[in-house]
Amino acid sequence: MQKYTGGCHCKAVQYEVEADLAQTFTCNCSYCEPKGFIMAFVPGASFTLLSGEEMLTEYRFNKKKIAHLFCKVCGVQSFGRGTDDAGNPTVMINVRCLQGVDLTTLKSGMFDGKNM
Ligand SMILES: [Zn+2]
Repeated sequence: MQKYTGGCHCKAVQYEVEADLAQTFTCNCSYCEPKGFIMAFVPGASFTLLSGEEMLTEYRFNKKKIAHLFCKVCGVQSFGRGTDDAGNPTVMINVRCLQGVDLTTLKSGMFDGKNM
């Protein structure tokens, strides 16, 4: 686990997160594929939103279980909120929005969102 800071482009939304980037994913669903996310999933307790809660706009689709959140100023989607199978809060981190991460070193697995 390592601590990272991340957020949107205009810096209205900023957060701190503890994550293990040895496990990252891309998703093949109709939403994530065009967005091009590289994702990491963390428990809700590992995520701290430092600023920007009031700047977030929420988008839900399909089973409406995941809150896809984007900054209403710059449109960047730096994280999302959902729950795991047991109902615990889970945060999806858009790894592309973290500072100091060399994306070329990541080996991302495939998340089969298309068939969920
Ligand atoms: Zn922004």
